[in-house]
Amino acid sequence: MKITDVESIMLRLPVVREIGDGCQNILIIRVHTDEGITGIGEAHTNPMVSKAVLDSPMCSVSASGLKRLLIGEDPRDINRLYDKLYKKSVTYGRRGAVMHVISGIEIALWDILGKSVGQPIHRLLGGARKFEFPCYASDLSPDTAKGAVKLAEKHVKNGYKALKLGWGGLGGNRKSDAKLVGDVRKAIGPDPDIMLDMGFPVPLDDAIWLGRALAEHDTYFLEEPLSPDDIHGWAKLTAASPTPIATGEKESTLFPYLDLMERGGLRIVQPDVARVGGISETLRIATHAEARGVRVIPHCWSTDILVAATLHTISTLRDCPYLEYNVMDNPLRTDLLKDPIRPKNGMVKVPEKPGLGIELDDKTLKKYRWEG
Ligand SMILES: [Mg+2]
Repeated sequence: MKITDVESIMLRLPVVREIGDGCQNILIIRVHTDEGITGIGEAHTNPMVSKAVLDSPMCSVSASGLKRLLIGEDPRDINRLYDKLYKKSVTYGRRGAVMHVISGIEIALWDILGKSVGQPIHRLLGGARKFEFPCYASDLSPDTAKGAVKLAEKHVKNGYKALKLGWGGLGGNRKSDAKLVGDVRKAIGPDPDIMLDMGFPVPLDDAIWLGRALAEHDTYFLEEPLSPDDIHGWAKLTAASPTPIATGEKESTLFPYLDLMERGGLRIVQPDVARVGGISETLRIATHAEARGVRVIPHCWSTDILVAATLHTISTLRDCPYLEYNVMDNPLRTDLLKDPIRPKNGMVKVPEKPGLGIELDDKTLKKYRWEG
């Protein structure tokens, strides 16, 4: 089997707002083969930048566009192709947009491999340990505690056993952030897990204060209260906070996770399969995490392509308590597949059809197609 084309499809909502929602414009990668099998992937990133990473010509032996490296290759050689893409982009790659695109390609290659042998990806990874997952409802935080309570009550009523509020107005005032969680806890009772995602960094002292205050409301984790680059800050925060600290959605490859776990003291890491390097790289991180008693709860705030790739990946882990499930009302989230992945009573099933087990809805592709 040979790769004949690598197609990038950009979709964009008619109005894109400057909010903490990275699913308003997306990049789908389709890898075509001479045997008629097409693999689907997603790079969770800035679509226009990523399209250039894909389509750019060769600039030097270590600064190539990625598409030309794949044409004529056997898509089933996933490990070798990953190494080739990494090596031939290493001057300008290694992190960020280039790794996001490599992630999308890698997911598409797994999709092809699964389709070529008629098996779901999780079986090719050695088999699922769990066939369904509880979702945590992941939502943007309203600006007021009253609004947060209303939203949390809605998600619990819809069957979710856990919920996360993030970005929005958080980070402006530590007392009102703590009150928001306290009011939500009072409203929904002791059982549902509550997570808080700051989105942007706050001062270290505020993060430590919040880690302590949120523990009084039995908060499951506090996410990203510091800069992704502040490794010394993470070490101080994880040592001082009784609330578990989570981070990692902005990292790529295993290397920064080793730092976060070894030097930063993180007990929960959140690789994004469509940013970190794909399914295999997420599993490498998970292996290192498991050996250190660190939990992997992937970041998963984009389309159902990412949801499917994440489900196949986490289904093979020994200990992943939740799937992050983006509950925003957004057609790129809800209408991208012919058969969307929707939770029932807060649970989703791991796809069972070959490859990722998904099919794109051409109507949605046509309606939101963006040429840039
Ligand atoms: Mg986050």
